[in-house]
Amino acid sequence: MQIDLTGKTAVITGSTEGIGYAIASQLARAGADVVVNGRSEDKTTKAAERLKGEGGRGSVMAAAADLSTKEGCNALVGEVPHVDILINNAGIFQPIDFFDAEDEVWDRHWQVNVMSAIRLARAYLPGMEKQNWGRVIFIASESGFNIPVEMIHYGVSKTADIAVARGLAKRMAGTGVTVNSVLPGPTLTEGVEAMLAEERAKTGKPFEELATAFVKQHRGSSIIQRAASVEEIANLVTYLASPQASATTGASVRVDGGVLDTL
Ligand code: NAD
Repeated sequence: MQIDLTGKTAVITGSTEGIGYAIASQLARAGADVVVNGRSEDKTTKAAERLKGEGGRGSVMAAAADLSTKEGCNALVGEVPHVDILINNAGIFQPIDFFDAEDEVWDRHWQVNVMSAIRLARAYLPGMEKQNWGRVIFIASESGFNIPVEMIHYGVSKTADIAVARGLAKRMAGTGVTVNSVLPGPTLTEGVEAMLAEERAKTGKPFEELATAFVKQHRGSSIIQRAASVEEIANLVTYLASPQASATTGASVRVDGGVLDTL
């Protein structure tokens, strides 16, 4: 299968590193014009420069905006008024016990993980509907089903993403616009590295070894028994963003290494 996204503009939120960067990189190689986003101007510009260096076929643009606020989302939409492919990837995760997680923790996860995606979908879907083609993909998590006891606030935000994606797919019924959520499992990213930093400082063990131990301890049902690479997640997202995936909509598609123990 040859995926060609020439002429399509793709916004990937939170794409200066991690899963978002890998998605931006693959979409660019498939020919899309890619918009890289992160909070800081400096990091976003550097990520866009790095991406340009990879030699994708489409153009690369940097659009820094803090998507945790309505103003930040509006700024991104102002800079990039029309997109064909929206990847709602920006997300935060912080293990905090339920009894220590104050309202601020819940609110922060809600704003970044859910409201940014809702605001951008609301802004971009009408243009996609009008042209009868579009792709919206929410990067949710297996944690949206399998609520992690160490970060219930995060799991709930991801359940919401899956629900919003399903609802929006139905709202776009009969059009060429698909809306799906993708459910990664533990994945080797800078975000996970930060989460394991304390343990790394304590044990001196390499990041990959700690990530594998994390998977075995906290996601024991994992069939692959390791964390995924960012490329493994981006492969699925690139397919769902492609014209070939036109009959997949309203789905929550797993790339979790088998963590979710359901049929
Ligand atoms: P990461 O921390 O490595 O990267 C996060 C990206 O989001 C960065 O580019 C950062 O700049 C950006 N970001 C954070 N807050 C932002 C904001 N307010 N405005 C704009 N950009 C912002 O994260 P990751 O591990 O690559 O995760 C990406 C997505 O995948 C998240 O939605 C996460 O919940 C989901 N996910 C990750 C894993 C995992 O194990 N890494 C597993 C399942 C789901």
